[in-house]
Amino acid sequence: NQRKNGEDPESPSGFSPGLLDLHSFDTELLPEVSVPGLYDAPSLYRSVRGRSFDDSDPYLANNKQIGRVRPVPDNNLLKSLAADKERAGNVAKIKVVVRKRPLNKKELAKNEEDIITIEQHSNSLTVHETKLKVDLTEYVEKHEFVFDAVLKEEVSNDEVYRETVEPIVPIIFQRTKATCFAYGQTGSGKTYTMKPLPLKASRDILRLMHHTYRNLGFQLFVSFFEIYGGKLFDLLNDRKKLLMREDGKQQVCIVGLQEFKVSDVDTIKELIERGNATRSTGTTGVNEESSRSHAILQLTVKRSADGNDSKPPKVVGKLSFIDLAGSERGADTTDNDKQTRMEGAEINKSLLALKECIRALDNDQGHIPFRGSKLTEVLRDSFVGDSRTVMISCISPNSGSCEHTLNTLRYADRVKSLSKGNNSKK
Ligand code: ADP
Ligand code: MG
Repeated sequence: NQRKNGEDPESPSGFSPGLLDLHSFDTELLPEVSVPGLYDAPSLYRSVRGRSFDDSDPYLANNKQIGRVRPVPDNNLLKSLAADKERAGNVAKIKVVVRKRPLNKKELAKNEEDIITIEQHSNSLTVHETKLKVDLTEYVEKHEFVFDAVLKEEVSNDEVYRETVEPIVPIIFQRTKATCFAYGQTGSGKTYTMKPLPLKASRDILRLMHHTYRNLGFQLFVSFFEIYGGKLFDLLNDRKKLLMREDGKQQVCIVGLQEFKVSDVDTIKELIERGNATRSTGTTGVNEESSRSHAILQLTVKRSADGNDSKPPKVVGKLSFIDLAGSERGADTTDNDKQTRMEGAEINKSLLALKECIRALDNDQGHIPFRGSKLTEVLRDSFVGDSRTVMISCISPNSGSCEHTLNTLRYADRVKSLSKGNNSKK
């Protein structure tokens, strides 16, 4: 059988009737309308599927009783839904990507060596660690790591987007929550990597909302906040301090967090820039402050059931972008300054809790240890139900960062080795 990509060779339209089975995707997404008679419905389906239905079909039978059907508004929407559904199934629950940045001017001036090698078209990398023997002669120890993808220093932000977030975007219309983290030491490129992603994603989300999924009542919201020393601050509302509360249904709610409804790219761009600016105007110097905080930007897709604005729209899916605190900050637990020690302990706790939550996710454990930290508590609703996680581990190439780089890769490796069917050897 010569089937390609699940296509049915007998289908004139080129896609499989199986894919277009109305039970196989979320018919809730289609607008519900009343039709005068049941037999109006099959003809709509017939035109899409290229074959007729009889009314013993359980979908029609169910709807016969309530006298309502969800007709298919157009062929393209149905195709998109089916394709997106299929894509959703193909997007791994957890993806771990490593990005190496180029040597910077300072490192080049110091003649520092690039100790990371990445083969062309490979998903593995090697760290060349220089060590000393007892007699003080140098030798090099090689550490090889394998990930879902390894991005070399030439790779552009566009390519990073394509590799990480782009495949997830359509599935947030299908009740999926997805989270993209940047992990790594300060200066390894986390902010450089994360900053462009939300805008690129918003562009794609709006395109879907305004074309493929138009007139289905979808709305997009943006919020942006920061966790600093275990406390929450709204980056879109002058760093107003926020409190977190859990409702009866164990939904986390950040009280007072500003959420902006957006429908054009320029507004989103403005909001993201405002949040980033608010983030870096801390009291003591830019990178110093931001390296101790987690910045969380959320794009939430909601939908009002019948285009009726009287009821608040319900959350359909969510995409969270997290620029984590510098991973080395978790080790600030012996610093002379008490404040720094406490912040270090909080960061350490949150990075460990994050790993534990991802581990629990992958094992489909009923119990997910959210309560380990503020960060994981806030992300709770993104970890339950159908969820996806992408971790981008950022690494510096210079020999001076060797120890931090190995720590970052080991953390990523532990997250990765949890993923099912991904037992590539190290
Ligand atoms: P972090 O947020 O992890 O502390 P930054 O994103 O601020 O690190 O990056 C540190 C510096 O390195 C910045 O000046 C940034 O512009 C630069 N940089 C990081 N990644 C890259 C890259 N892939 N290509 C070019 N410059 C980069
Ligand atoms: Mg940063």
